[in-house]
Amino acid sequence: MAPNGVESSADWSPTSWRSKPIKQVVTYDSPNAASAALAKLSSLPPIVTPTEIAKLKASLRDAALGKSFLLQGGDCAELFSYCSDDPIDSKIKLLLQMSLVLIWGSNKPVIRIGRMAGQFAKPRSSPTEMVNGKEVPSFRGDILNGFDPEARTPDPERLVSAYFHSATTLNYVRGQLASGIADLHNPLDWELGHVRDDELREKYNKIVTSISDSLRFMRTIGADTAGQLQTVDLYTSHEGLVLEYEQSLTRRLRHPVGYPSSSSSTDGKGWYNTSAHFLWIGDRTRQIDGAHVEYFRGIENPIGIKVGPSMKNDELVKLLDIVNPTKEIGKVTLITRYGQDKVEAMLGPHIEAVKGSGHTVVWQCDPMHGNTRSTPTGIKTRSFSSIFSELSSALKIHKQHGSFLGGMHLELTGDAVTECTGGSEGLEDEDLSLNYTTYCDPRLNEKQALELAFLVAGHYRE
Ligand code: PEP
Ligand code: MN
Repeated sequence: MAPNGVESSADWSPTSWRSKPIKQVVTYDSPNAASAALAKLSSLPPIVTPTEIAKLKASLRDAALGKSFLLQGGDCAELFSYCSDDPIDSKIKLLLQMSLVLIWGSNKPVIRIGRMAGQFAKPRSSPTEMVNGKEVPSFRGDILNGFDPEARTPDPERLVSAYFHSATTLNYVRGQLASGIADLHNPLDWELGHVRDDELREKYNKIVTSISDSLRFMRTIGADTAGQLQTVDLYTSHEGLVLEYEQSLTRRLRHPVGYPSSSSSTDGKGWYNTSAHFLWIGDRTRQIDGAHVEYFRGIENPIGIKVGPSMKNDELVKLLDIVNPTKEIGKVTLITRYGQDKVEAMLGPHIEAVKGSGHTVVWQCDPMHGNTRSTPTGIKTRSFSSIFSELSSALKIHKQHGSFLGGMHLELTGDAVTECTGGSEGLEDEDLSLNYTTYCDPRLNEKQALELAFLVAGHYRE
């Protein structure tokens, strides 16, 4: 043990989590089939590289210092069937548009991370659920079991399938970005016709005009000499829940040139999780002595920690000391998700505790997970107004504490779903059944997501 009571990284390995108590454990009927799947995964090439991971970490350092803003979004549960051109294209375009609005509002570069190309595992509060009056094992995400009630037994083949669906999704994202899907020389379709309130539509239109004018001006004066307007960076992320999978894709690789020398390695290498650029620990698996925290403390990637209302101040500081003993700036993003009623009481003390600890983190607000409600007929939903309320409270509270919001974390889709109520279309509880397609939590549709970006941007401009 190191003097501060935190175990030094010398006793860490990609398998050391196996000796710790684990939540959300997975048991396979055939351990041999599971070993074979993991052996296959270990032989496959990295999906992402240290150079990309280090680049994201450097950008997150800027977000932690208030010089850029982090936009992270995507499905709650990504399905293998979303690995198809239309849903991927619409997600890329939505994240791009939202980021432009946020850049306009905050006057800061925006870092884009998709909850995609690997967001296949879901923590569940109960091991079973009722489907058509029958108790069946809960759906745990495509990486473990199937949504069909007949397919709820964990199948190790799905681990390998998750790899290929991640790789295929990211391959398509890379191809589309390289081919100009995010080329700002092309006009963007903002589709604001749904905004019923004239005043609001006028306001959003003004923002769009201002963004379009700025882009035209830059093109006209030839400000694009390095081709910055032709494409953007889009990173991938998922909850690091299934540790067997994460372990198999954790590789000892050479640090890129210029990697910060705070890294203690003597061989110029580190342990990179090559399944995604950014991984986070869920609110259900962040126990100080647990397997997930143990795994996360050893990887080089920038990581997130979900911070819910049960997080104690000293627990938060202990967690930071464990996963980031060198206090590397931007290494950790704290993803706060208290709920609109609890954010006032919880966020301030957490900000002060972290300040007192000497850690500099990215403070990111997830206004989704603390604001889930059930309609009288039992449909899981979230109100747009509660989501925006938690976000605005977070913006305000950070300001009051001399801190700043470094980003937002959203569940969204580029499709016209009806899963959250409210927003400019005025969706009501009764409208939810029109196109409710999520396999886990309710997501903002493309119009609601864009509107949230407009509102946050407006907040900065006030
Ligand atoms: C999620 O992000 O989908 C999730 C399960 O969140 P949390 O861990 O915050 O509950
Ligand atoms: Mn969710």
